[in-house]
This record gives sequence, structure tokens and C-alpha cells, in this order.
Amino acid sequence: MTEIRGRVLSVASECVPLIKTGGLADVVGALPAALAGQGWDMRVLLPAYRSLRGPAADWPQLWAAADLFGGPGRVLAGQVAEISVLLLDAPHLFDRDGGPYAGPGGDWPDNPQRFAALGWAAADIARLGLSDGWHPDVLHAHDWQAGLAPAYLRYRGAGRVRSVLTVHNIAFQGWASAGLLGALRLPAEQFHSGALEYYGGLSALKAGLVTADAITTVSPTYAAELMRPEFGMGLQGVIAARAGQMTGILNGVDTDVWSPETDTGIIPYSARTLKRKALNRAALQAEFGLTVPGPLAIIVSRLTDQKGIDLIPGAMPAFIEAGGGLVVLGTGDPALEAAMRGLAARFPGRVGTRIGYDEAMSHRLFAGGDAVLVPSRFEPCGLTQMYGLRYGTLPVVAATGGLADTVIGATPATLAAGVATGIVFAPADALGLALALRRLTGLYADRETWVRLQRNAMKHPVGWAAPAAAYARLYEGLAG
Ligand code: ADP
Repeated sequence: MTEIRGRVLSVASECVPLIKTGGLADVVGALPAALAGQGWDMRVLLPAYRSLRGPAADWPQLWAAADLFGGPGRVLAGQVAEISVLLLDAPHLFDRDGGPYAGPGGDWPDNPQRFAALGWAAADIARLGLSDGWHPDVLHAHDWQAGLAPAYLRYRGAGRVRSVLTVHNIAFQGWASAGLLGALRLPAEQFHSGALEYYGGLSALKAGLVTADAITTVSPTYAAELMRPEFGMGLQGVIAARAGQMTGILNGVDTDVWSPETDTGIIPYSARTLKRKALNRAALQAEFGLTVPGPLAIIVSRLTDQKGIDLIPGAMPAFIEAGGGLVVLGTGDPALEAAMRGLAARFPGRVGTRIGYDEAMSHRLFAGGDAVLVPSRFEPCGLTQMYGLRYGTLPVVAATGGLADTVIGATPATLAAGVATGIVFAPADALGLALALRRLTGLYADRETWVRLQRNAMKHPVGWAAPAAAYARLYEGLAG
């Protein structure tokens, strides 16, 4: 057993394996085990959505409130996989059909109250502890849904408890009208531009950004980008004002799931048996009916403008002409889905497209591809470039956010130093991508260099060890 250095209450709206709509859930679900190894005892507070109430029926109750924003609320504690889970059971807010944020008619109109309740309960537990005697040293809030937790903690008296807010996605800001100030139990005197007021209304994310003791986001480059208007989406000034409290900590990937040596859905290979990767490439070409003489690129992505997918069609003709091929797996914007289907129709034998979400197939793409394309316009952290590194499928990425922080682009200097792991280009536009693909074709033709890049990539650490150590240092700095 690792000695316990401190306790953390992690507060979020999603957590794998209980409830997931995006990458936030993976991070929240991975942190408890990763931090346990660093001596931090973490419990995760989540809303008891309808789908979660059944399993928690016989869990002990460790906290209660007679009136939690319009009805009673209680916290039930249980263990799910390696995670100590605290479920906030407040049926008037969370016991409904539909997703965490929306029902059949769109976003729940009482989302401000629903997630205020999550923040309120979190702050109360942070201040007073649970009835089993557990008391956190640090409250760690994730995204706007937990943004009010640091605010309530600050405004109601934090005692010795310190707070951290992590921004996973700045696009969702938890907006509410100013008229809700009282209903959300926020202090009227804090309604000014230096605190709670946000463009005439309220934002749960801004409330967290101005009240948390520390702020993190999911990569160092994204932390810096968020202080600029092109990326900050209105909050750039708020974040810039707190630059001294802001750090970027990369996400990790689950190296048990993403490992070419043990992946049961592929022909396994390692950095020493890279020739076996060619068998996966042959299988992937057969699956999609392709015969590609040069580099086989892959894309596994939401098909959106954020991901730069609209840049792909313009760059393909020259890449195909030079011998390249492409396999696309994704869903998203119907126009981009059509464009990806169009490429497959235009370049039979060279481009294959599968519209859909298919995790097993994504493993076959990473095993069989030579390079993974991630031309994102912004990317807080990104995961697929890290899977690419693990599988020796060289990432070709735009120099933004976590992409810039995880891939060492091939340049004369990095090649001479023997450290390059992929191709990094800027800006994320048509010319940038076209030149990157030319570079890819050139490097692929130089077998010796290519294999060296693959070996470098496969050695690059992408697990949770380094991120967990960084969070542990942050917690220690705060709690110490
Ligand atoms: P984002 O969260 O912005 O979509 P990330 O790269 O952080 O981007 O995470 C996306 C995750 O979803 C990765 O694990 C990726 O492999 C997976 N993914 C995206 N689209 C698909 C798809 N069509 N099929 C299987 N997995 C997908």
C-alpha cells in the first residue's frame, strides 16, 4: 500500500465506466487509479442519473440536504471498478430519461440548477466532510458542470481546503441568465465583471475560473492558447488574468487497451517485430479493397471543422498521385461525411471510408496504417496522435494544443538528434497539410529513417504515469 498523502474530491458530470458522452469521462475515470499510485485518495462525485440509481440502491448514505435546489438530495457511496464513487441522488434534478445534459426536447432548461446542486454538494462535502469521517484536502472540479463548486467553496468559507478547476473544453461555458443569481445561491455583491458577471449573465465556467485556487487544462500549449481570442471563446481575458495559477497537464491513454503487443483485435507486433505491422497493413487494405504503393494514412475522428477534416479533400489528389492512400473512420457533419464518401468513390483502390463509430475497427486502422492524420484547428489534448505513437503509426499533426506537446516533428535538427516521432505542421490550412503530406511521402520512401521514427514513436511515454505525477505535485503544492 502506498502511504496516503492526501484526499481529493473529484467532481464531474461524467466518469467511465458509469456515464460517458466524451473524453472528459475517460480522464475523470482514469485519474483515481493513477493518483492512488501517487498516494492520493480520490473519490469521484457524480450526479445519480436515472441509469445509475439502480446499482446504487443499497449503497450507504454519507451526506444529505433537505432542500437541494427544490427537493431533497443525498450522497450515496460505493465502489465501481477501482473508483470510489459518490453519487448525488436528487431525483427532482437527475432522475429522468435522456442524456446527462439534454432530453428529447433539447438541453434541460434547469441545467443551471442541476449542476449548481452538484457544485453545492461538492463544496459542502469539502467544507464539512462526509459522515464516514472522510474529508478532502483538495476539491478538483472538471469543466462548467462542476464550475460552481470552487465558487461555493470560496464564498461559503473554504477553511483549509483548496480547489482546482480543469478545463477540458472551453466551448461549453455553462451560461445562465443573471436573474438566476439568487436562485443559484450566489452572492449578489459578486455580480461584477471581476467575478461572476459574464457578458451580462452568469457562466459556471467563469465562476470556477475566478474562484479556484489553481486552474489546469489538458496540455501546456492549450493553456497558452486559451489566453488568446482565437481559442479562448470569450474567456481569454479571464484566463490571462490568472496565468500565474494556470498549468497544462497532458492526458494519458490507457496503455492496457492501446498496446500493439497485446491487442487481441490485430496481429500483435512490437518495435522489435515491426515487420509484423505489414501484415496488419495488408489486412486493412484487404478489408477496404485497397492497393496502395506508398504510405497508407488513416483518420479516426469526429468529422468536423475543428478536426480540419474539410482540409482533406483538397490535399488528397497530390498525395494519391505520389502513391499514398487513405482510410477514414468517423462520423459527424453530414457534409464532411459526404465528402469522405466522395473521396472513396473518386479514388477507388486508394481511399476507403467507413462512416460510423467502431472501436474495434479503429484498432485495426492504427495497427494497419503507416500514419495518422490529425490536422485539427484546435485540439485541447487529443488522443489519436498518442495511439498513433504507440502503434508506430506516425502522427501527422497540426501544431496546436496537445498535438504540439506530444509529437516531435521531423526537422533537420530533430532528425540529426534522432528524436523525431512524426510530422508537425503549421498553420492548419490547405497548404500546410499538403506540404506535410509531401514530407510524409518523402520520409516513407527513406526506409531507414522511417523505421527509426517508428521506433522513437513507440518508445514515447503516453500512459498516465507522468500526468498523475503532475497532478500529485499540483495537489501537494496546494494542500501543503
Ligand atoms: P475528441 O474528444 O475531440 O473527439 P480525442 O482525440 O480527444 O478527440 O478523442 C476521440 C476519441 O474517440 C479517440 O479515442 C478516438 O479513437 C475515438 N473515436 C473518434 N471517432 C471514432 C470512430 N468513428 N470510431 C471509433 N473511435 C472513434
